[in-house]
Amino acid sequence: MGKDMNSGTPVMRQFWKTKKEHPNSILLFRMGDFYETFEDDAKIASKTLGITLTQRSNGAASDVPLAGFPYHALDQYLHKLLKSGYRVAICEQIGDPKTAKGIVEREVTEVVSPGAALSDNYLSDSENNYLASIVFEKNTFGISILDFSTGEFMGATLPLTSLQDIVYQYKISEIIISESQYKKYGDLINKFGALISEVPGWYSDLKISDDYLKEHFKVKTLKGFGISSEPLLIKSSAFALDYVDRNYKGKIDHIHSFKKMINDDILKLDSYTINNLEIFDSISAKSTDGTLLNIIDKTQTAEGSRLFRKWIREPLTNIQKINSRLDRIDELSLDEDYNNLVIDSLKNCCDISRVTSRVSGKKTNPREILSLASSLEILESLSKKVNKNCNKSIYKLVSQRKSLSKLKKVIKSTLMDDCPVNFTKGNFIRDGVDKELDEYRKISSDATAWLINYQSDIQKQTGINKVKVGYNRVFGYYIEISNANLDKVPDYFIRKQTLTNAERFFTEELKDYESKILSAEEKIIQIELNILNNLIELIMKNMKSISVNAKIIAKLDIASSLSIISRDRNYCRPNFNDNGKINIKDSRHPVIEELMDLDDDFIPNDVSINNQNEQISIITGPNMSGKSTYLRQIGIIIIMAQSGCYVPCTSADISIMDRVFTRVGASDNLVGGESTFLVEMNEAANILNNLSDRSLILLDEIGRGTSTYDGLAIAWAITEHLHNSKYNPITLFATHYHELIDLADKLEHANNYCVLVEDDGEDVVFLRKINEGWIDKSYGIHVAKMAGLPKSVINRSYEILSKLSKETISIDINRKMEENIDNSNDILNRLKDIDVSKITPLEALIKLSEIVEEANEK
Ligand code: ADP
Repeated sequence: MGKDMNSGTPVMRQFWKTKKEHPNSILLFRMGDFYETFEDDAKIASKTLGITLTQRSNGAASDVPLAGFPYHALDQYLHKLLKSGYRVAICEQIGDPKTAKGIVEREVTEVVSPGAALSDNYLSDSENNYLASIVFEKNTFGISILDFSTGEFMGATLPLTSLQDIVYQYKISEIIISESQYKKYGDLINKFGALISEVPGWYSDLKISDDYLKEHFKVKTLKGFGISSEPLLIKSSAFALDYVDRNYKGKIDHIHSFKKMINDDILKLDSYTINNLEIFDSISAKSTDGTLLNIIDKTQTAEGSRLFRKWIREPLTNIQKINSRLDRIDELSLDEDYNNLVIDSLKNCCDISRVTSRVSGKKTNPREILSLASSLEILESLSKKVNKNCNKSIYKLVSQRKSLSKLKKVIKSTLMDDCPVNFTKGNFIRDGVDKELDEYRKISSDATAWLINYQSDIQKQTGINKVKVGYNRVFGYYIEISNANLDKVPDYFIRKQTLTNAERFFTEELKDYESKILSAEEKIIQIELNILNNLIELIMKNMKSISVNAKIIAKLDIASSLSIISRDRNYCRPNFNDNGKINIKDSRHPVIEELMDLDDDFIPNDVSINNQNEQISIITGPNMSGKSTYLRQIGIIIIMAQSGCYVPCTSADISIMDRVFTRVGASDNLVGGESTFLVEMNEAANILNNLSDRSLILLDEIGRGTSTYDGLAIAWAITEHLHNSKYNPITLFATHYHELIDLADKLEHANNYCVLVEDDGEDVVFLRKINEGWIDKSYGIHVAKMAGLPKSVINRSYEILSKLSKETISIDINRKMEENIDNSNDILNRLKDIDVSKITPLEALIKLSEIVEEANEK
């Protein structure tokens, strides 16, 4: 900043000192009832928040830019700064301005960053907000991922090649890295679009990290987390915790466990596949409309919605685990009454994890705590109503709940049912909870009666009828006597204030009473806030149990919502095997079928593929005939099934997959703005290098981003490679290059499929039905007609097409003629080479017969 710290006003000097400690944050500097920003921060704040930029006088030094907003609008403005990617340091007044000598003391109480925010305005209910700390070492890195708003904390040690996938998969909004590692790895992480927080001087000592984690989690060893032998993971998790600990001044008790991410039992989905299948975001709309999650997530609770998102992102490979999810859907589908009860009850659940994190951050309020107790109560009451004979898996699930009856009872018996929103003035603790509180409340409520009595006493004592005993915030209690009666005022009245028509007085008695009442009111607030703090402590002690119950609620919510959509949309329960075969009858695309007009029908298609004799399917068909849809619905059905959902088809027999890859040809994905031929080829290379025996590969028009022959050659070679690879990945290849149909003849495990087209010479109809076989026409002009090109252009296209075809034939004929001429020349040359004078008649005869034979051949 280059400021002369000795110039300027004392407040500005205080600002500079604080700003120096938080150079990478927008500093909100509390001044009375306002948060002010100065200098460059003010320029940013004024632009981002739309607030006026003014100047503040800075004593002898030049004026400084200033922009501010009222303190109560903090929440309203803070999230805007965070959304624009800024880190914000909140600097509060610590001392009491009234008693401060010189300027009031100020201190940064919180540093809020996009990856660690708690504000409801900023967070989305159905999405986690993750920050990640990364520690690199050679070709690996330890990554710890934390959702500060829910306390979810996990991590893994991974090869460098997985970096992009994990950052995109978890939509990391902030990456923390040490300054020294940033120098080396900055380029690698900058491209992800997350806020990068370089942490100065963060040590990378394993022992310190290890001790720090043990102390935080209150454990003797890290073995229980399964990370004791992963130094990069230990360092990165300590790093993440330390970061939020510093920024939130130790309010991190809600982070009470760490989960090592084990990739082995997960169906891996790279970021391209998640994008191409439009699982969470739509490619064209850049929103969540028309995405898989949007269509199938009908959960009632934020907790359920977040967990479901996670399940879809990380489908399972363990059949038993998948089946236990499916069993719950089964049971709820069969017990409609209980399911309706679940749905109705869960509507009233609060976002338990977010409430507990606000409890830990001391940002909660009595209303929220009550809603926490009610939500826990809902689980209790639903659990008691489960029919344990019919609904065995639901019963098993709810039986894992922790008994929190004592906590619920304390909360309910302590807080009033209708707590005020503004609790800082008290009046939210029930009567009978605290003796002292009751006494002070009595004093306070008796005040009105006492004052009325006192007024009539004064009237009697002075003989003045028009006496008023009142209260004013500035002057306190007073006795008001009109000017006409001033002569009757007794000696013990002490003058307090003069009005136009009256004088105000007080007495020793009134003064004593005043201090008693005022101190009672102060006491009441103090005692109520103390009781609230005790409640908060109690909730924090039960944090782990609360999060167990929150997860049960989420699972119940998912099962119940899935059972409803499965019934309404005719989804069926998938069966699993391990024999490498996938057979799906009447499969549909869950998103397209939902978004179609009512009078259109989605045409179902069968899928029969395996990693043996039906390993590669080459699907030909014109553009717009339904190839991509077919490919994508297969990928989506596998993902849904392994996540524990019913699937859109009439039956599904699925061999567990451990990877689904999708690649969309460059020209098909131009809307995404990212696909160049090179990217497409990078991605193809990634598939070929990461194959497994349980891979499903969906290639849609790959190779189109370059010239026809190059593209064809590459597509051909890739298919051959997949066929001959030692892993036998199941591959579906959609293409409108009918040239590729020859490939299936040459490859043993490849088959041709096509989208049926009805073509009576005049009209062409795409039947959307996939059949064995192939088609050898592109129908490109037909697609152009469907798209609404003018009739004249369409007719002219047909003319040119027919001319081009003829030209191709004439070129062929010319080529033939040239070949014939070449042959004749060849024969003539050979005749010329014969020396007739030196050849015997027999030799001449043999030569002649050779030439005749050759000429016949040609
Ligand atoms: P292609 O990949 O062959 O160019 P798409 O799969 O993109 O074709 O399909 C084009 C459009 O056809 C889709 O947007 C969808 O509206 C419709 N469609 C695809 N498959 C079906 C189907 N099975 N039933 C009904 N409509 C379909």
